[in-house]
Amino acid sequence: MARDQRVVFFDVGNVLIDDDPFLSEIFRHIHQTLPTNSPKAQLERFFADVERALHDHGHNAVERLGYRYYRRLWPKKRKEIRRAIKKAWWRLVRMIPVARDVLEALRQDYRLGIIANQPPEVVECLDRWGLLSLFDVVLLDSQYGVAKPDPALFRLAIEEARVDAEQSLMVGDRLDNDVIPARRLGMRAILLWLTAGEKGWMPQSEWGRRFVKILERLPEPRWDSILPKEQPMALVRRWAALPAELERIWTAKV
Ligand SMILES: [Mg+2]
Repeated sequence: MARDQRVVFFDVGNVLIDDDPFLSEIFRHIHQTLPTNSPKAQLERFFADVERALHDHGHNAVERLGYRYYRRLWPKKRKEIRRAIKKAWWRLVRMIPVARDVLEALRQDYRLGIIANQPPEVVECLDRWGLLSLFDVVLLDSQYGVAKPDPALFRLAIEEARVDAEQSLMVGDRLDNDVIPARRLGMRAILLWLTAGEKGWMPQSEWGRRFVKILERLPEPRWDSILPKEQPMALVRRWAALPAELERIWTAKV
């Protein structure tokens, strides 16, 4: 099939950039603002609570832990943390190194795009890392005023790429934000679930090292409760495995 007729869209967080340093920093901020005499501030207990929240609530872990710890005060705390993280953005943001070579190879056979909920600064980062020129279409919620999981952002993306849903595929790390909305539109989708080791972050701090250990123990996402036509067509754990999996899925029925 001609390259023009197939477009692979990528999510950014935990696909092209590593979200783990941000997540680690958010939990560190939560811990920092706890009164030191609070039993919750005891480090062993805190890390156990973080692990439980990530295990039970996945992407909503920060919210769940925040509400449990701060109750009414959480919305205010959340705002403070968001401001702090925004300041630390340039220090924390890093590319997943293995992505670039695979993307360059994929460009021989597919056009590439981005569909992501990210601040506009991410474009500058992708450019700095030499990734931006690999993508034909880039759609960020911050520039289009509509965010994932709203299918409108996916519809805009395939319109902009001038393809039909069946000629496009979404690669993302989230079932709710990436896979389900794409599949609802009739796109193909792959869940890319990279391990902490594959993402390549080697934290220097004791805090970061403990946090990565928690991530390494988390189970893979399950989708038994999702309608078959909204499920991912494959789960891929390594960037290097993506080209073969894409080829296989392209010949499968949507
Ligand atoms: Mg993501």
